[in-house]
Amino acid sequence: MPELPEVETVRTAMESQMKGLIIRKVIISDKRMRWPIPENLPEQLNGGVIMGVRRRAKYLLIDIDVGRGNSEKLTQEQSANKTTEWCLLLHLGMSGSVRIYPPDHHPTQQQKHDHLIINADHDQSNDMDTAWTKMVLNDPRRFGGAQLIKRQDQDQHPLLRALGTEPLGNQWNGEALKKAIKGRKTSIKSALLDQRVVAGIGNIYASEALYQAGISPKRQAGKISISRIEALTGAVKDVLRRAIAAGGTSLRDHVQPGGEIGYFVQKLHVYGREGEACHHCKSPIKLIRQSGRSSFYCPQCQR
Ligand SMILES: [Zn+2]
Repeated sequence: MPELPEVETVRTAMESQMKGLIIRKVIISDKRMRWPIPENLPEQLNGGVIMGVRRRAKYLLIDIDVGRGNSEKLTQEQSANKTTEWCLLLHLGMSGSVRIYPPDHHPTQQQKHDHLIINADHDQSNDMDTAWTKMVLNDPRRFGGAQLIKRQDQDQHPLLRALGTEPLGNQWNGEALKKAIKGRKTSIKSALLDQRVVAGIGNIYASEALYQAGISPKRQAGKISISRIEALTGAVKDVLRRAIAAGGTSLRDHVQPGGEIGYFVQKLHVYGREGEACHHCKSPIKLIRQSGRSSFYCPQCQR
C-alpha cells in the first residue's frame, strides 16, 4: 500500500513533468473505483492548465485552472465561466500507481487496470499525441480513485476536512502530538494510524518510528511522557524523510520520467521482520495484532 513517502515521490515526479502543461485529452475507464472517477472529467478538464501538484496526507491534489488565456480550445461553457480553479484529487488506495511518460516515450498499448489517463502539452497547436506528456493512474484493486473539487471548497471535502496535521510540517512536534492524544486510552500505535491525530502515517512507518523512538506499540497513548513523545515525533519525521529520499518503498511499478523504475528498498528495522534478529540487540522481532493491523516491534528495545 502506498504510504506518504511513495505519494510524495509521485507528487515530485508529477510536478516536475506536468506543471505548466495544458490538458489535451483525458481518458477514463468504465470500471468503478472506490471513489468513482467523475464521468464528465474529460469535458471539465480539457484545455485546463496544470498549475502544480500538492499532497495532503496520502492524497495527490493536482491544481488545474480551466479558462486561462492560453487555452484556446475551451468549450463555450468553460469560456463563459472565466477561470475555474479545480483541484483533481487522486487516491492510490491499496494498489494504485502512477506512470508518467515524457513526449515520444509512450507505450504502444494501454495497460490493464489503467483507469485515468491525462495527456498534456506545452501548447495546443500540436495534435500529434506522441508529442504529449502522458500521466496514467493504474489500480488493479480499484480501492483508489479520483474526485474533482473546486479548489476553494477543498478544505470542506469529506476526504480532507477531518485530517490531522501533516507530520513533516513545522506545526507538528511533541507538544502538538501530546495535545492530540491527551487522555486517549488506545495504544500509541493505533493513535499514530488515526488520520485525525496526524495525517498520512501508515503501518510501515508507524512501526519503524516507534522502533526508532524505543516506544512499545502497546503503550497507552495518553500516558506517555512529553520527552518520549518528542522523541517519537522526531523519529516519525526522520523515517519519513529518509524514505522520501530513497524514493519510497512499495510502489514497485512507479515509472519515473525517462522510463526508469522508481523502486528502492529502504532498510526496514521491524516491519515485515517477524522472528528475525533486531538490528540493535539481536532479540527476535515480535508480531502482534492491534485493531486488526499487524505491529512489528522489538520487545527488548521498545518499552
Ligand atoms: Zn532490539
